[in-house]
Amino acid sequence: NQSLAQLDPEVAAAVDAELARQRDTLEMIASENFAPRAVLEAQGSVLTNKYAEGYPGRRYYGGCEHVDVVEQLAIDRAKALFGAEHANVQPHSGAQANTAVYFALLQPGDTILGLDLAHGGHLTHGMRINYSGKILNAVAYHVRESDGLVDYDEVEALAKEHQPKLIIAGWSAYPRQLDFARFREIADQTGALLMVDMAHFAGLVAAGLHPNPVPYADVVTTTTHKTLGGPRGGLILAKADLGKKINSAVFPGMQGGPLEHVIAAKAVALKVAASEEFAERQRRTLSGARILAERLTRPDAAEAGVRVLSGGTDVHLVLVDLVNSQLNGKEAEDRLHEIGITVNRNAVPNDPRPPMVTSGLRIGTPALATRGFGDADFAEVADVIAEALKPEFDAPALRSRVRALAAKHPLYPGL
Ligand code: PLP
Repeated sequence: NQSLAQLDPEVAAAVDAELARQRDTLEMIASENFAPRAVLEAQGSVLTNKYAEGYPGRRYYGGCEHVDVVEQLAIDRAKALFGAEHANVQPHSGAQANTAVYFALLQPGDTILGLDLAHGGHLTHGMRINYSGKILNAVAYHVRESDGLVDYDEVEALAKEHQPKLIIAGWSAYPRQLDFARFREIADQTGALLMVDMAHFAGLVAAGLHPNPVPYADVVTTTTHKTLGGPRGGLILAKADLGKKINSAVFPGMQGGPLEHVIAAKAVALKVAASEEFAERQRRTLSGARILAERLTRPDAAEAGVRVLSGGTDVHLVLVDLVNSQLNGKEAEDRLHEIGITVNRNAVPNDPRPPMVTSGLRIGTPALATRGFGDADFAEVADVIAEALKPEFDAPALRSRVRALAAKHPLYPGL
């Protein structure tokens, strides 16, 4: 019955060091967030001990009466939050959720149509060496060079030409809202099913700050750990008539025993996501991203070769284009790391630099909004970033401005 520190001081020390890192730096990776303590508690609970193959009320193991309660709560809350007819809360991750959908709806060799990885799509939307690109015939649509927006005319033309079984709308790096009605229209015209992967913007949808794809799509997938702010995991929402296929693709098709401790944490996160406090946090997330975009489009930023893709943002992230900057994506990421801001480099469409270097940054506001950042704090962060991206920068001075912001918004007090 030893504690982690007693039993395994090496792992305990790494966990403590990670907590200190999260507290002392500013987390601006757009796909990250800070799960509430109650979520950490549920995820670290004795539910990890339980095997529960099957679904609530229909398990292949005894003793599932309590995990049934937990999983049913997660299902009911997911359906209510997003207005969905069916929910499967078992996928271990976003990638598993997407793969399960393909497994449920497609045959090997079938055609899918998704956003190109280099234009903001996800690996699971048809990247060459991902399962989706290896087993399926993946065709990609793109964003327009002129304005950085999805080219719906191209989507329509490709759908007519390739007759995909499934069209995928969704992204990992795109600063605007998608037109779900247009995607539905294209899917209907060409007899395709429509899947929306809302992994990035699910929290905004939950808060009513982004159009809800559920009424338009046959299937909606998401992660639960990005804007949604819950435990690392996946979730599938579907029309009722697809529910059975989806469930059997997840289990026994792809997974064995569900992670009931993670499902408990998903249930807690979904409860939080229905609250006014959560909506207020998402409003600060959006407002922070707009402030960031505005400050990175000012003349002094432009002079340093910094541009903002699509000229702004409607979501929780900003895509910075450094094609005209002396700094490449890797150097910019390293500079921000040096002053205590964590972001990730990101290829821009038609990036002239190689994928390990890139010419862009993806900067997100969800984690800082969770930490309590408001408009004035985001303005200060934006100014620090703008300074750091100029040819000359004063690292110690910027580092201390970052420290002051971190100290103003303590993370996990008392943990
Ligand atoms: N879908 C999208 C749009 C994503 O951005 C991501 C993660 O980056 C995923 C799916 C995969 O989620 P996971 O990392 O949990 O497998």
